[in-house]
Amino acid sequence: MYEGGCLCGALRFRAEVRPIASGYCHCTLCQRSTGAPVLAWASFPVEAFAYTKGRATSYDSSPWGHREFCNLCGTQICYRKTTDATTVDVNLGSMDNPSDFPPEYHLYEKDRISWFDTADELPRHAESDPGAA
Ligand SMILES: [Zn+2]
Ligand SMILES: [Zn+2]
Repeated sequence: MYEGGCLCGALRFRAEVRPIASGYCHCTLCQRSTGAPVLAWASFPVEAFAYTKGRATSYDSSPWGHREFCNLCGTQICYRKTTDATTVDVNLGSMDNPSDFPPEYHLYEKDRISWFDTADELPRHAESDPGAA
């Protein structure tokens, strides 16, 4: 069981299995929604993810997806597709033990901020992972 929550503690969640994938996303939507240069995330099957305390607020961050956050402290918890979501992409910074889920690749390298980089040899995809559903 893997747990996490928002900064103020009003929202808590858990994931019952290890993530299907984890990575960095450099896209401009992730930059803007977090206010950070990159978003590190882990993707869990939707049926294995649940809120255990509080209720998340969500908004459409694009025509195809929405983001869920704590309406008290503003911490963004996750992203999921608006229709037929099979996975929930959880912001790794909101997990209690983010060290458990090292990123496996980079997405949207084309949008990476020029002054920001990570010291790794991970695969870098110009946009989304060609192998992803
Ligand atoms: Zn909160
Ligand atoms: Zn992104």
